[in-house]
Amino acid sequence: MGRSVRFRVFKDIWQHKTRSIWLVFLLFSNFFLWMNWDRKRRTAHAEELAPPSSELLFQERLTTLHQISIELTKATTFDDLCYRAVEAGRNRLGFDRLGLWLWTQGYDHTVGSYGTDEHGNLRDERNERGLIEKDDLVLRAIREKLAVVFEQNAPLYNHKSEIIGRGWNAMAALWDGDNIIGWFSADNLLHQQPLTSVDLDILKLYGATVGHLCTRKLAEEALLQERNLLRTIIDTTLDHIYIKDTQSRFLVSNRTSWANKPQASSESDVVGQTDFTHLPKELAALYTRGDQEVFTTGQPVLNREEPGISRDGQPIILLTSKIPIRDAQGNITGLVGVSRDITDRKRIEQQQLELALQKEKVQLLNEFISTVSHDLKTPLATIKNSLYLIERADDPLRAKDKLRVIDEQTHILERYIQDILAMSRLDHSLELVYESLKLNDVVLEVESKLQAIAEKNNQTIRLTFDDALPLINGNRAEMYRATINLMENALYYTPENGTVSVTTRAENNWVIMEFSDTGIGIQEADLPHIFERFYRADKARSMVSDGTGLGLAIVKKIVELHNGRIAIESTVGTGSRFIISLPAKVTS
Ligand code: ADP
Repeated sequence: MGRSVRFRVFKDIWQHKTRSIWLVFLLFSNFFLWMNWDRKRRTAHAEELAPPSSELLFQERLTTLHQISIELTKATTFDDLCYRAVEAGRNRLGFDRLGLWLWTQGYDHTVGSYGTDEHGNLRDERNERGLIEKDDLVLRAIREKLAVVFEQNAPLYNHKSEIIGRGWNAMAALWDGDNIIGWFSADNLLHQQPLTSVDLDILKLYGATVGHLCTRKLAEEALLQERNLLRTIIDTTLDHIYIKDTQSRFLVSNRTSWANKPQASSESDVVGQTDFTHLPKELAALYTRGDQEVFTTGQPVLNREEPGISRDGQPIILLTSKIPIRDAQGNITGLVGVSRDITDRKRIEQQQLELALQKEKVQLLNEFISTVSHDLKTPLATIKNSLYLIERADDPLRAKDKLRVIDEQTHILERYIQDILAMSRLDHSLELVYESLKLNDVVLEVESKLQAIAEKNNQTIRLTFDDALPLINGNRAEMYRATINLMENALYYTPENGTVSVTTRAENNWVIMEFSDTGIGIQEADLPHIFERFYRADKARSMVSDGTGLGLAIVKKIVELHNGRIAIESTVGTGSRFIISLPAKVTS
């Protein structure tokens, strides 16, 4: 019978089993148990048996049985145990022919292990199976739950079921404490010695002893098989799996885990060591801190991304989970950790991100080219047209008028190109030169520049300064650009007689600048897009035509380069308010 078959046969038996019983206790306890259990039946047939040769003989055989049972505990496998049990039973307990049979689950078949042939040689009977229903002696033993049964003057068989002689034939159950898992069969074919009650008692006791040992061995093998299976699984996974004690010493380290450690050539190089033995100090400290977190909080650490190092010293990224292990009292005795190398996944994610960015850039560039070419076309066409008319104009006044148009359009083109250049410069010059700036001064400078335009439109510029305004760490030229853009917009989009107000104030560690106007306002639907490049709200476009749609994008970029924020509030027909918050310079 193959190992797997046996495993199946006795799986159930094992599941109900007390695993470790002191062998001597087992021997004697079973002996007395057995004696009581079958005494009645045995005595009922006692008159059939030859008288035992002497009480001393019984004691000697009992001692031998005890010795054998101790030796049998050293069997390496279940198969080895069966072999040794038959061998010792024949050679040392004096049974003529002895065979060990096991029952299949459901008690429908018998499966052989080792037996004795008609010449007295040990025989491999592992492939032999028999139907229980054909065996009267066995059927009787099962039916009557007998520890031992025998027949006198019975036909004796060889393995081909041929009758090869006559004599007594006895069977003893292999008792595991709860169930009968098989039996020993013995006969006297070779020497024809009479059957004594001592023979029966010894056979019965031997069955009980070997039954226990078989059960224990099967349990061990099943456990070993499970352990091997588990070990195979954890050793073939690509995840790093490990168990650590509360001192962060490895107790278990699967193949992926130990093989990733430089200089480790087997699990034993890692077991008993901490991460400090194999890894750079900073990494080992990081992992140990993670372990301690589990031990002190009692909570698992789940899916934490952390840096790692490959066996060849390359940086890797690990996704780590650590779960505390507790004893029966709930005390933490260690942790089980699983770390997955996600370097490739991260690299792919990064590549995908870069690809998406690249696509977005290309799309932006396309949009930019189409917007720019469209916006350049209009003034260029106007210039071209004006030049054509100048060439043909007789009237110098008309020619002068066309020259003025050309001047205006050139101005628009220039502004457009300047805005594009400014945007591009800001996109690429992340390192601006900063100085201590008082924003009141910047606003004053812009106001003096725009005062003439305001006066022309009969607009009022109102400045309300916090004189104690903290300084900011800013780039003067860019803050000037942002301020003039906002004030120009406010004036552009505010009708005549309107008011543009600039207020400065401090709020906690922030410097706030507010630009309000009493202008046309911005529709709610436009507000989320107002800082996008080239975005122009329709209503405003109809009012003025020389905007580039880059002004607010430039302002936002400048504010962000100063670690600030920009917000907008606007109501159509009432006016708009742009609020800029910049971090105040820290004074020591
Ligand atoms: P533009 O050069 O067209 O002014 P901006 O980026 O400066 O470009 O402004 C984008 C759009 O925001 C403008 O087209 C306009 O519709 C709207 N806008 C900006 N500032 C104001 C304001 N103070 N009042 C009303 N609308 C404004």
